[in-house]
Amino acid sequence: MADIEDKLPENVRGRYYCDDQCIDCDVCRDTSPANFTRQDENGYSYVYKQPETPEEEALCEEALMACPVEAIGDDGAKKEEEEDVEELELITF
Ligand code: SF4
Repeated sequence: MADIEDKLPENVRGRYYCDDQCIDCDVCRDTSPANFTRQDENGYSYVYKQPETPEEEALCEEALMACPVEAIGDDGAKKEEEEDVEELELITF
């Protein structure tokens, strides 16, 4: 299972992300090219656009299920919301 703490820095904010377990196998990019792309310099995948349609959502889910090393996570948004609240609390107090 992907770990939000190991999320790669290139991922856009939002639900789906790739973590540092990625072995650059190409499955996610092939499955959902509208959402996953390759970081060529270091050789791994990341989410460059969160799904915007039910079709893209389904393909992202398919990529998550198909990743051979479980490097794709879908709990990114929840974590970011928590961080936003913490940041807001720091600014407020
Ligand atoms: S399917 Fe998994 S291991 Fe393969 S490129 Fe995508 S994130 Fe990396």
